[in-house]
Amino acid sequence: MTKDLMEKIISLCKRRGFVYPSSEIYGGFANIYDFGPLGSLLAKNIRDIWIKKIVQERNDMYLIDGSILMHPKAWEASGHTVAFTDPLIQCPSCKKRFRADQLEGWKLEKDNQTGEWNVLDQGSLICPDCNGNLIPDVKEFNLLMTTSIGSIEGEKTKVYLKGESCQNIYLDFLPIRDTMGVKIPFGVAQIGKAFRNEITLGKFLFKVREFEQMDIEYFCSPEEAKKLYEEWKDIRFNWYIDTIGLSKNRLRWRQHSSEERIFYARDAWDIEYKFFDEFEELEGIHDRSDYDLKQQGKFSGKTLDYFDPVSKMRFIPNIIECSGGLQRTFLAILAESYQEEKVDNEKRVFLKIKPSLSPYKVAVFPLVANKDNLIEKAKDVFHLLKPEFMIMWDSIGNIGKRYRRQDEIGTPWCITIDYQTLEDNTVTIRDRDTMKQERIKIEEIIRWIKEHLNV
Ligand code: ATP
Repeated sequence: MTKDLMEKIISLCKRRGFVYPSSEIYGGFANIYDFGPLGSLLAKNIRDIWIKKIVQERNDMYLIDGSILMHPKAWEASGHTVAFTDPLIQCPSCKKRFRADQLEGWKLEKDNQTGEWNVLDQGSLICPDCNGNLIPDVKEFNLLMTTSIGSIEGEKTKVYLKGESCQNIYLDFLPIRDTMGVKIPFGVAQIGKAFRNEITLGKFLFKVREFEQMDIEYFCSPEEAKKLYEEWKDIRFNWYIDTIGLSKNRLRWRQHSSEERIFYARDAWDIEYKFFDEFEELEGIHDRSDYDLKQQGKFSGKTLDYFDPVSKMRFIPNIIECSGGLQRTFLAILAESYQEEKVDNEKRVFLKIKPSLSPYKVAVFPLVANKDNLIEKAKDVFHLLKPEFMIMWDSIGNIGKRYRRQDEIGTPWCITIDYQTLEDNTVTIRDRDTMKQERIKIEEIIRWIKEHLNV
């Protein structure tokens, strides 16, 4: 996947309604994007299938949907108000700010005691933007976004937008423990918004300031943590292959070094995917010990523990966390599925997305747009399928052009109603990837699609 292909994906996303730059009529808004009509459907399918696999198909998971605004103390307890920072340097000439740890040749180390950054090795001192001279003066930059609540001016309280979505889960541990009859080990899943003041620009959906995280926080005893950590690593890695359709050779594991790992985590691995030329993080899987519940317990004055009726032991649960990004999964699907080939001397672009994730499952076409009996029959088929699947109608231009339009948005099947349909109630169903057609009876279409969706 080269940067050149990435440009093609960005252009397709905009042209076909997957992703629009936010507020574009005002010139856009850096690192913030909207999902358009097609993108919203793809994003919804990712969320739905994640909930199905993680919550519906298991017996030990609960779903929550927490608020974005939380008590500010939660962010003090988690350490985000102090330690959720990036190391920045500012070019004295053009005033642009850069992540010092991402500048070529630079190596930094954070002093966990003082929170200061030490420059161990400093590479080029030339500003990548204006070629001015950089000064290696590294400053902390907090990624948390803030707003305020309260109706009376002067009595407003500063609150944070969630820097990571999962925090509600730690705070809801207590009511879930007390109302749901849970038995450890169990987990809580949440898909929610997160906001970060990222300064790296130009990475499309990979690095945005407002995004969604798909989080699992799995509560267990200290003795079980290591075994369950390995189990979750396997589950999450295989999800990207089996459910999302990414290829194994573009996925890999990367363990956090002891310097990179947050001090309380026992182990931390990232699942990385080769989006462009390099492998980059898709999901983080962390063995977080009992730190989160201990901290929130300390700050709130509540005891966030669990009594095990079998061992008769009381303990603060350990947490295994799996935190993946919706936008990055979305981008990985597009990067993986974008295909170009030559057909009859013309370029065919198609998205080879798993049918279960495709925005539209089927497009219905009357062979020609000016024959009433064909249109009528095609409408019957359209209305038959509409309650069952996300489907599209297209009668503009010749069939070849209509196939290409559907290929480009990843619609796995196109159904055409032709003259033979009027005689024997059969239609052609054409496959996006092979471009092969077969004839099936109208009354069999729903079963056929359901069968093929489950492959
Ligand atoms: P990175 O260093 O790659 O920005 P991170 O280590 O800060 O990521 P985490 O805090 O572990 O990320 O967040 C969990 C997941 O949330 C990441 O694996 C990623 O999929 C997603 N994510 C984090 N930051 C962003 C962002 N700015 N834009 C889009 N997705 C993000």
